[in-house]
Amino acid sequence: MRILLQFPEGLKQEALRHAKELESEGNEVFISASPTYGACDLAIDEAKNICADKIIHFGHAEFNKVEFNVEYVEYSIDAPMNMLEKALPQLKDFGTIGIVVTIQQVHQLSEIKEFFEKNGKKVVIGKPYGFAKKPGQILGCDIGSAASIDRDVDAFVYFGGGIFHPLGAALATTKPFFAIDPFNSKIESMDSYREKHAKRSRGKVLAALKSRRFGILVSTKNGQHNMALGKVLKRKIEDAGLDAQILVSNTFDFESLNNMREFDAFVNTACPRIAIDDIDRTAAPLLSANELMEVIRMKGELKEVPGY
Ligand code: SF4
Repeated sequence: MRILLQFPEGLKQEALRHAKELESEGNEVFISASPTYGACDLAIDEAKNICADKIIHFGHAEFNKVEFNVEYVEYSIDAPMNMLEKALPQLKDFGTIGIVVTIQQVHQLSEIKEFFEKNGKKVVIGKPYGFAKKPGQILGCDIGSAASIDRDVDAFVYFGGGIFHPLGAALATTKPFFAIDPFNSKIESMDSYREKHAKRSRGKVLAALKSRRFGILVSTKNGQHNMALGKVLKRKIEDAGLDAQILVSNTFDFESLNNMREFDAFVNTACPRIAIDDIDRTAAPLLSANELMEVIRMKGELKEVPGY
């Protein structure tokens, strides 16, 4: 069988070992060297170009159904649990806590739950919206496991590496949010990020108020492609008497976007995290769909004001 292997950045160091194993079983094996952001980003075009029979995608669970033969190899990491004990003083005022994890720690969720229950907490585990598949699991774009239980808990605990995932969940919830990073022995409150994000979002909207030409980003990645939304936003912009063009790419390169100087602002329909994490990478404001609607609403109100 001809197989294309695909690894997220953190697992690319293991690509050769897996390739050799599969070759020794009689397969013809290729490794995708492209950046891989998630299971939303399957290398289907590459696989088709080299006439592969199958993609083996490492490190992520299935994201959406695709018309290609894809095998997912999830990666679990046994994180040390000692940081849970250290988090207890910060959680002392909260009786009911919601726990969220990424796919790497889903297998440790029941152990984490048991730990907190033994220490007098009530634990609630939420359900994802659908891109993530397991209870308690979050993705950068599926924070349902947190948002769905926001009303039921006094605080949230994320257990896992980095702040990319807890940031998305914290922005979509209202309760105190703690990120326990067992790999770096850190416990961080995510609450200040909410205020910072709200300020930055407001800043983007204000910066885009004088924009007349909007570039709408539509990704061709399997799990990010949303041409329908792109077209709706284009119509909304045009209905407001402004110009819009849909910009298509697999992975948006910010240098290329910055070269497109005719556009006064960009609107993201691809990975929702682009309009949160990458806003400093474009010279023109990079808006989410909601922020665009706010710009249009405010522009309507400001029509009578000279200079707008
Ligand atoms: S957050 Fe973005 S990169 Fe991650 S799975 Fe969702 S769409 Fe893909």
